[in-house]
Amino acid sequence: RTVYVNGEYLPETEATVSVFDRGFLFADGVYEVTSVLGGKLIDFDGHAARLERSLTELDMAVRLHRDELLEIHRELVTRNDIEDGLVYLQITRGSDGDRDFVYPAEDTPQTVVLFTQSKPGLADSPAAKKGIRVISIPDLRWDRRDIKTVQLLYPSMGKMAAKAEGCDDAWMIEDGKVTEGTSNNAYIVQGNSIVTRELSTDILHGITRAAVLRFAREAQMQVEERAFTLDEAKAADEAFVTSASTFVMPVVEIDGVALGDGTPGPVARRLREIYLDESRKAAI
Ligand code: PMP
Repeated sequence: RTVYVNGEYLPETEATVSVFDRGFLFADGVYEVTSVLGGKLIDFDGHAARLERSLTELDMAVRLHRDELLEIHRELVTRNDIEDGLVYLQITRGSDGDRDFVYPAEDTPQTVVLFTQSKPGLADSPAAKKGIRVISIPDLRWDRRDIKTVQLLYPSMGKMAAKAEGCDDAWMIEDGKVTEGTSNNAYIVQGNSIVTRELSTDILHGITRAAVLRFAREAQMQVEERAFTLDEAKAADEAFVTSASTFVMPVVEIDGVALGDGTPGPVARRLREIYLDESRKAAI
């Protein structure tokens, strides 16, 4: 695989980052994941815009702009011959060569890393046909979940807890209400209404979320942006999650409680179809 590190395209075995990098020592960095379908990037502009916001919120300079980022993404997709898959991007605050809680000088070079993951058939995953099963766990993350930082230990622990129970993922709960999934935004369907938590610092502002809600409204579906409880979720007609890497993924069970007839619901299936169709059309 060819990866990108600080301005260079290198074989993955030759790419290096300092052991003092603040991404490594302090999880002081941000990331984005953009999916690739048919060799083209899905929702690229949304991811580029959120990256700038994450950097700015952490007082990190924005040194790579949309067009340069697009070129790097495309170059990696081409060099690695990616038909369906992902481009992962990470920018950390770098290091001045020591371990210090205090940030290094403003002009310290950031560490910029991008790599691809090939996922043939990404859009027709068997999981989407079956739906996924989730458990609930308390949301123990920090209070700035709107910043897409590389602090992913707790979400990782959540996925492991789900796996230990034979499930696929975890929904995180705060004050009895669902915040989001470990790596996705969470939705329920009540009657003909799609309910998902409103944007705030409590959740990541999903790029897929924004697109899916836009398509839902364009299709005259009813959308309610408000927090919902775990009890509401278990009593819902259907549920689903969204993320750049899974698109719209039906949820068929929460804490052992089957939703509806335990198979992907019509709203989730329809939204997945619309999202994939429209995003492929708009891919660049
Ligand atoms: N919430 C969390 C906590 C996430 O990690 C992700 C995916 N990175 C999402 C939501 C979905 O965001 P997006 O649609 O931009 O991938």
